[in-house]
Amino acid sequence: MSLPASTAELRALDAAHHLHPFSDMKSLNAEGSRIIVKAEGVWLTDSDGNRILDGMSGLWCVNVGYGRQEIVDAVAQQMTELPYYNTFFKTTHKPAIELAAKLAELTPPQFNRVFFTGSGSESNDTVIKLVRRYFQIKEKPEKKIIISRRNAYHGSTVAAGSLGGMAPMHGQSAPIPDILHIAQPYWWGEARQGETPEEFGLRAAQALEAAIDAMGEDRIAAFIAEPIQGAGGVIIPPATYWPEIARICRERDILFISDEVICGFGRTGKWFGCETFGTEPDILVMAKGITSGYMPLGGVMVADRVAEVLLEGGDFNHGYTYSGHPAACAAAIANLDIMVREDLVGHVANDAGPYLKAGWSALADHPLVGEAPMTGLVGALELTPDKTGRTSFADVGKVGTLARDFSFKNGLVMRAVRDRLIIAPPLVISHGEIDELVARARRTLDDTYAELK
Ligand code: PLP
Repeated sequence: MSLPASTAELRALDAAHHLHPFSDMKSLNAEGSRIIVKAEGVWLTDSDGNRILDGMSGLWCVNVGYGRQEIVDAVAQQMTELPYYNTFFKTTHKPAIELAAKLAELTPPQFNRVFFTGSGSESNDTVIKLVRRYFQIKEKPEKKIIISRRNAYHGSTVAAGSLGGMAPMHGQSAPIPDILHIAQPYWWGEARQGETPEEFGLRAAQALEAAIDAMGEDRIAAFIAEPIQGAGGVIIPPATYWPEIARICRERDILFISDEVICGFGRTGKWFGCETFGTEPDILVMAKGITSGYMPLGGVMVADRVAEVLLEGGDFNHGYTYSGHPAACAAAIANLDIMVREDLVGHVANDAGPYLKAGWSALADHPLVGEAPMTGLVGALELTPDKTGRTSFADVGKVGTLARDFSFKNGLVMRAVRDRLIIAPPLVISHGEIDELVARARRTLDDTYAELK
């Protein structure tokens, strides 16, 4: 079969055969899908030849930017040498060995061991089993409740979707038992009248302690959280939040799981978000930026104190055909080599991050913008009908979607969560491209504002 050339024909074929994730298929089929044909650096090209600045790094993953031949070559060479072998039943291969050792070097010192998966969702499914197995071995099998947060996103398999706190997902597939959701540290949306971000941050963190007390510490296995909630709207917690969570996790007999699928690999200006916020997780969940999205791969780093118990327990009855896929590991090794050689983490912390933050923060003067937070290279614009208070639009999500569509017309990919626009551009973004990103975001705000009048 030869593929048709025109965008209209490609869209028709897509509509006839392709069920898209997280897409309203009815409207998608009426409007037609957006077809991306190539990409270079931070720029996408669509099937009509438009160049679009990818303010979302694909799905928060293309950290080193598009078009890295070095990764392509590493994968091709690995495919030639050993395209596949598994890591079950005490076997392994060189790419898995090298990547595991490299991850032990790059992650905080408590981490020396990784369990490979194919994605963030698979990683979080793994975490549920691993945490429960840990307490089984410690002869505390009743400790199996995992506390998560509302609007958290931990993936979309049945178990990872249950860990997440997304009501629309739970509405379509009921969560599995023994998962509890507490408040998210979303000051703009959830603080009381007159409550400062610092007061609110403390209160949101103390919801964890209250939940442990209410359920009984002997039943709680773990707390899972993204350092910055990503798909929940880039919720950057007030400064008081993480220190209080860290205190609670230290004082209570629970494991702390940092879901670094978005925040890992440089996004926040350190290698991992837990380092930016000063927490000490027992388990660290990774995917996306580990390969910059060039190949599917995920992993679960396990701190020594947890690993030692698991090792004593013998068989862990869990694994995926593609756990530690050699070509995916080769992509990750080449990707991490680039990140180290080009000091992309330093680039985010000292150059691109502060430069983007300056331009982004200035958007807060726009009449539609309530707040414009940013950490590293991940930020949000809360859209509001009245910037004198923390007011929200009555028809939640409508203005956000309108703005998101204008953004695309203006040649910038931003995502909308409710009425919050979010960005997370590739870490390699230059000053000129940041200027362009901010100019296009401002144009998008102007267009949306004009449409609302
Ligand atoms: N965890 C977080 C924090 C995520 O943002 C995502 C995806 O966006 C996932 C887990 C799930 O990853 P995947 O889509 O690779 O299954």
